[in-house]
Amino acid sequence: MSERVSLDRLRDQAITVRQQAYVPYSHFPVGAALLTPGGQVFTGCNVENASYPLSLCAERAAVATAIASGARQFEAIFIVGANSLAMPCGGCRQVLSEFGDMRVYVSQGTGDDVKQFWLHDLLPASFQLNPSSEEPTRS
Ligand SMILES: [Zn+2]
Repeated sequence: MSERVSLDRLRDQAITVRQQAYVPYSHFPVGAALLTPGGQVFTGCNVENASYPLSLCAERAAVATAIASGARQFEAIFIVGANSLAMPCGGCRQVLSEFGDMRVYVSQGTGDDVKQFWLHDLLPASFQLNPSSEEPTRS
């Protein structure tokens, strides 16, 4: 954990951004706060859509904000659901793994219910594009 950003502050930022979640269908707001090694925090909330598969998770929203700001390295993400723990979905685990291993904190945002994981434990065999592999040949 960055010395400049406490776990409480990271949680608080996830709780704050959770209030902005657009969840007219699931009514399940989620906030995520992504921490860089330099102490920057980027947040995101889930954004649902009438075409359900187009909905965006809070974790990926936070990644998009961070990337647009030039950040490329992350040491932790704090994810806050409501009324239940919001473990990152498989898609978000893969997206996060693009940027290396990091700690994943999950909480309902109330009380002392924080669970901590390493991303590599949540997604032990992530997809990695091997740029040295040869392209498939056509016969
Ligand atoms: Zn997700």
